[in-house]
Amino acid sequence: MKTRLAGSTAALLAGALAALVAPAAVAEPAPAAADGCYTWNRTLGEGASGDDVRNLQIRVAGYPGRGGQLVIDGRYGPGTAAAVTRFQQAYGLTADGVAGPETFEQLYALQEDDCSPANFDFGELNNCNSDWSGGATSAADAKANALVTMWKLQAMRHAMGDAPIVVNGGFRSVSCNDAVGGAPNSRHLHGDAADLGAGSQGFCALSLAAREHGFGEILGPGYPGHDDHVHVAGGGDAWSAPDCGM
Ligand SMILES: [Zn+2]
Repeated sequence: MKTRLAGSTAALLAGALAALVAPAAVAEPAPAAADGCYTWNRTLGEGASGDDVRNLQIRVAGYPGRGGQLVIDGRYGPGTAAAVTRFQQAYGLTADGVAGPETFEQLYALQEDDCSPANFDFGELNNCNSDWSGGATSAADAKANALVTMWKLQAMRHAMGDAPIVVNGGFRSVSCNDAVGGAPNSRHLHGDAADLGAGSQGFCALSLAAREHGFGEILGPGYPGHDDHVHVAGGGDAWSAPDCGM
């Protein structure tokens, strides 16, 4: 984030100087890299498509609306616009569903150079091994799924007042899953599940809040084996936390 600010300032100064010297003739300077992870170079709205849209979708995946799951396909349709609008509302930005400089600035402020959101780390989402291998999908896909999960958790964290959310694990290889008696079709094998500790929120509040942030699978208090953590995952369509009225 620090390099981003420095880069932006330098670019502004360079632009101002260039304007003074030769206002009509200079070409637009190439935009400075915003940070170590990713830089958006154009405003995005409905109808846009590309890798920049896909990168945006990853970061607003936690804003699909209750029970929804944003499809990360690089196509900016109504679902993406609605998610961007909710993200903008969550941060007090102009809520028009169009991702421009103001929205990107907020995302840069939230993301680390490894692309994880500010308050979650890849390490928290994998206490099984160091290379994301041995699951039910490729290591690259497992890690990519974990990234989306973290952005969903970041959205949930912000909605719950920015109190820390405790993550006690995520990705599991087959052997890690077997060792803890996980289901053979567990989403942990795909890297898109996380097990949450009680934190200051408590299990029921976490279970209920997760419904708003792109988790198709939520298992909490009252569901067998889930009185000591809340399991959240993408995919699936199963919410069960009977002790929380869910
Ligand atoms: Zn779990």
